[in-house]
Amino acid sequence: MSEIAAALTLVGMPDPADACDAAQWPATHGALPPDLGSLGLEQSARRGDPLPRPRSEPGLRLVTRGILCLTHAGTGLCTAIIGQGAPAGPAGGLWMTDGAFVDVGFETLRQHYGGPTALAVWMQAAELSRAAVEAELVCFVRHPASRRFARWMLALMKDADTTVITQTELARLGGLQRTSVSASMTTLQLRGALKVMRGRIAVQDRAALEREACGCGAPLALAAETGESPPDGASIGSADGTLRFAG
Ligand SMILES: [Zn+2]
Repeated sequence: MSEIAAALTLVGMPDPADACDAAQWPATHGALPPDLGSLGLEQSARRGDPLPRPRSEPGLRLVTRGILCLTHAGTGLCTAIIGQGAPAGPAGGLWMTDGAFVDVGFETLRQHYGGPTALAVWMQAAELSRAAVEAELVCFVRHPASRRFARWMLALMKDADTTVITQTELARLGGLQRTSVSASMTTLQLRGALKVMRGRIAVQDRAALEREACGCGAPLALAAETGESPPDGASIGSADGTLRFAG
C-alpha cells in the first residue's frame, strides 16, 4: 500500500487508486473549485485571534476572507501567509486581519461533487497548504527579511493603506530578533515603500513596496477571481459563467 493510501485509510478515506479518476480534476491548475467556500458555515475571526482547532471529522478548512498567518505548533513561527481562497490545512494559525473561514467536511464534499472529485479537491487542498509552507520556507532561506516583510505587508494592506501590527509581533511571527525587524523596516522606509508608526505600518508608495517585495508564495487565488481558464476538459463552463467540476 502506498504511503498516501495508508494515510487515507488511517483517516477513514477511500484509497484514491480505488475511488478516484484523477483525470476529472484539474490538479495542475492550482485552484480549488470557486464554490467551495459556500459549502460550509462561515466563521468570522478578529485580528489577533488564534485559529480554532479543526474538527475531528476529515475535511478541509478554507479561508474565505482576510489574511491568516499559519503558525508552527511548537514555536509559533509563521510558516505561511495565506488569504482568501487558500486552504488552511491542519496547522494552527493567527489572524493578521479580521477574516473568516469555513470548515467543509469530507462527507459534504462527497455529496456536492461526487466521490472521485471530492477526493481530488481534498488532495488538492492538502497540496496547496503544503506548497504555501514550502514557499515560505524557501523564502526564508533565499531572501532577506526586508523582502519577505515587504511581501507580507503587501498582502496585509491589499485593501487598506495601513495595518495595525507592531514590530514586536512581526519579530515573533518571523522568528527574528526585534532589531532585525527594525532594520528591515528602516530599509523599507528609507526606500519610500512604507511608513512605520507607533503600533501601525502604512503604505507610503505601493509601487515601491511591490518592487521591494519578493515574489514568493504559492498561486492560491480561486480560478473565478483570477479569470484564468482551467486546462481543457478540466471543467465545464456553464451558461451563467460559473465553473462546474465533473464529479
Ligand atoms: Zn521570498
